[in-house]
Amino acid sequence: MTHQTTCCYCGVGCGIVVRQEPNGRLTVEGDKQHPSNRGMLCSKGMNLHYTVMDQSDRLLYPQMRLNRSMPMQRVSWDAALERTAAVFKTFIQKYGPDSVAFYVSGQCLTEEYYLVNKLIKGFIGSNNIDTNSRLCMSSAVVGYKLSLGEDSVPVCYDDIEEADVFYVQGANPAWCHPILWRRIEAHKAANPHVKIICIDPRRTDTARSADLHLPIRPGTDIVLNNAIGRLLIEKGFIDNEFICNHADGFEAYREQVMQRTLVEAADLCGVDPDDIEQAAYWIGRSKGFLSLWTMGLNQSVVGVNKNLALINLHLITGRIGKPGNGPFSLTGQPNAMGGRETGGLANVLPAHRDVTNAVHRAEVEAFWQGPVRIAAKPGLTATEMFDALADGQLKAIWIINTNPMVSMPNANAVEKALKNARYVVVQDVSNRADTVPFADVVLPAAAWLEKEGTMTNAERRIAYLPSVIDAPGEALPDAEIIWRFAQKMGFGDSFNYANTAEVYQEYTQLTAGTNIDVTGVSYELLKRKRTVQWPFPANSEPLDVNTDNNVPIGTKRLFTDHRFYTPNERAQIHAVPDGNASEPTDDDFPLVLTTGRIRDQWHTMTKTGRVAKLNQHSPQPFLQIHPDDARTHGIRDGQLVVVRGRRGEVRVKAKITDDVRSGLCFLPMHWGKILNSNLNRANNLTNSLVDPRSKEPDFKFTAVTVLPYRKP
Ligand code: SF4
Repeated sequence: MTHQTTCCYCGVGCGIVVRQEPNGRLTVEGDKQHPSNRGMLCSKGMNLHYTVMDQSDRLLYPQMRLNRSMPMQRVSWDAALERTAAVFKTFIQKYGPDSVAFYVSGQCLTEEYYLVNKLIKGFIGSNNIDTNSRLCMSSAVVGYKLSLGEDSVPVCYDDIEEADVFYVQGANPAWCHPILWRRIEAHKAANPHVKIICIDPRRTDTARSADLHLPIRPGTDIVLNNAIGRLLIEKGFIDNEFICNHADGFEAYREQVMQRTLVEAADLCGVDPDDIEQAAYWIGRSKGFLSLWTMGLNQSVVGVNKNLALINLHLITGRIGKPGNGPFSLTGQPNAMGGRETGGLANVLPAHRDVTNAVHRAEVEAFWQGPVRIAAKPGLTATEMFDALADGQLKAIWIINTNPMVSMPNANAVEKALKNARYVVVQDVSNRADTVPFADVVLPAAAWLEKEGTMTNAERRIAYLPSVIDAPGEALPDAEIIWRFAQKMGFGDSFNYANTAEVYQEYTQLTAGTNIDVTGVSYELLKRKRTVQWPFPANSEPLDVNTDNNVPIGTKRLFTDHRFYTPNERAQIHAVPDGNASEPTDDDFPLVLTTGRIRDQWHTMTKTGRVAKLNQHSPQPFLQIHPDDARTHGIRDGQLVVVRGRRGEVRVKAKITDDVRSGLCFLPMHWGKILNSNLNRANNLTNSLVDPRSKEPDFKFTAVTVLPYRKP
C-alpha cells in the first residue's frame, strides 16, 4: 500500500511516497508529482522511515510524579490530564492566567497549533503561547510585516527557475534546504549566465558553489546591504516608477545609505570593495533577483533591521511581485509557517491578527465564544518564558514537541529555570529529548505517519499528512491530547472534536476575508489535489492551469499588482542603521562564536540521531577555528579544546580550517547530553540577548575564548 505525505524535517516541505509492505516494513521515496521536490529527497528525507520503525526510545504511556524526588510512575491518560488540569486551575485561580504557558514547536501540525492557541488565548485568558520557531524566523515575520504590511512570503519555489541572480545571505541551503539548493544548481547548470552570490562568514558548501562569496565579518550584514543599496542608487539600477507609485520611505533610505562610502563599508565588512560592486552590478542588471535567507540574518540582536536592509534591495529595484523576484525567508522547520498562520506566537492571533488590535481580538472572541476576553497584552516569548520560570512569575509550562534544554540559548540558565518551575509537562514522541527528565508529567505523542493533519511549507503551500500506521502503546495524536485536556479544564463544549478535520475546518472559517483566507481548503480538497498555496478563499478556481496530475493550485505569488497589505497599500522602505548590539568581545573572550547546522542532522537530533547512516556524516560535535586563531590559542588540529564564554563552556575536538574567517569559530547546535555530559551543548555558551522587536535570540554572535583541554 502507498501513501502520499510530506517530510517532517525542514520547511522545504518535500512530498514523500511511503510504501507499506505486508510485513509492516516501510520504505520512502520522493513524490514525483509533488511540486516542491519533484521526486527528489535529501539524505534526511530518504532515511525518514527509520525514525518511525525504530521504536526503542518511544514514550509509550503517560507518566507522572508527585514531586521531583520521586521516580516517574505509569498512569492513565485520565489521571495525567486530570492532575494537570487541577494544577493549572489552581495556579490560574491563585496567580492569574499568566501563571501558565505553552511552549510549542514548528514541528506541530496546524491543527495542534490552532488548538493550543485557542485554549490558552480564548479560554484560559493568557497569551502565553510561544513556539521554538521564535528562535529561527521571528525576525523575518517582523521584517515582512514592517515592509509589506503582513507576514506574507511573496514568492514561491517556481521563482527559482525564473531567477538569474540568487542572493543567499546567512543561509546554507546546500545543507539545510538541500532540495531547493538542487533546484538552484540544476537551473544554474542549464543557464550558465545565472549568478549565485553567497554572504556568509563561513565558507559553506553553498559558498563553495557560489560565483561570488562575500565572507563578511559577523554582524555586518546591514553595512553590506546598505552599501549595495547605495550602489544601486548611484548606478541607476533603481525602479523609480515602483518607488514613486508603490513605496514610501525612499528619501530617508537614500540619506541613510549615503552615510558610508563603499570603501568604508567594505572595510567594516572585511571584504573587497570590488566584490560588493560586482554583487550590486549583478543584482542591478538581473531580470530575476531572488534573495534567500535564514538564521544568519534572523538570529541576531538586530535581526529585524537585517531583514529590512535586505528587503529594501527588492523595494528600491521594484523586484517583487514578478516571476523570479522577491525576498524569500526560508523556514527551518516543517510547519513554522502553519504556526504563524494560526497565531501560534505570543503576540498574534489566527490569520495574522494582532493581540494588541482590539478589532482583531473582538473578531476572534466572537468566533471562539470563550468564557474570557482575549488579553490585550502580548504573552511571554520563548526566552521570556524561561526567564519567568526562573524568577517564579511563571509557575507551569507545557512543552510540546521541542527540546529547549538543547535548543534554547544560555542552556545552563534554562536548566535552572526548569528546575525552579513548579510544574512542567513534556509532551513528546521519544525519551531522547534532554528536556524529558525535568518533567512532572510526561505525555506520549504520536509521531509522523501516526497522526493526520496539515502543514504549510516555506512557499505557503499547505499539505495534508495522513495517519498511516498506529501509534505505539498509548501514544495519542497531539491534537487529541490538547482537546482532551481542554475538556478536563471544563471547556468541553468548545473542544468537542471528533477528528482533526473538524479542527481544520474551524480554523479555515476564522481566516475568512483575511489576506490568508483558506476557506476554500479542506482535507477533501488536499487529498484530491495534494497541495494548495494560500490564500485560497471559498469558491476559488484553481489558478494553475496544469491540473492534470495533482499539481499545485492556489496563489503562487503575492503582490503581483504591487498593492501591499499596509494601510495605504504601499510597501515601506525602512532606513535602518547599520550598527550591531551583540555581546562585545574583549581580551578575555576575543573570538566570535557562531552556531549552526550540519548536513545530516536536524534540530536537537531526537529524530536524525536515531539513524546510523545519518550519524556517519559527522559523528561528533566539533569546533571550526581558523589556523591563525588556532596558532594564537595554542590549538592543534583534532585536539580536545575548551570553548569558554561568559556563561559556560563546551569541550569538543578542534577542526582547524580556513572555512571560517579569522576571529570567528563555529559549533554545530545539535548535540545535547552525551554520556551524561552536557559539555557538547553549544548553547552553554550563547547569550540571552534578543532583537527588541522580534524577540529572536542572538545565536550567531557570542564572545568566547578557546583553550587546549588539560586534565585537572
Ligand atoms: Fe525533508 Fe527538507 Fe530534505 Fe526535503 S529538503 S527531504 S523537506 S529535510
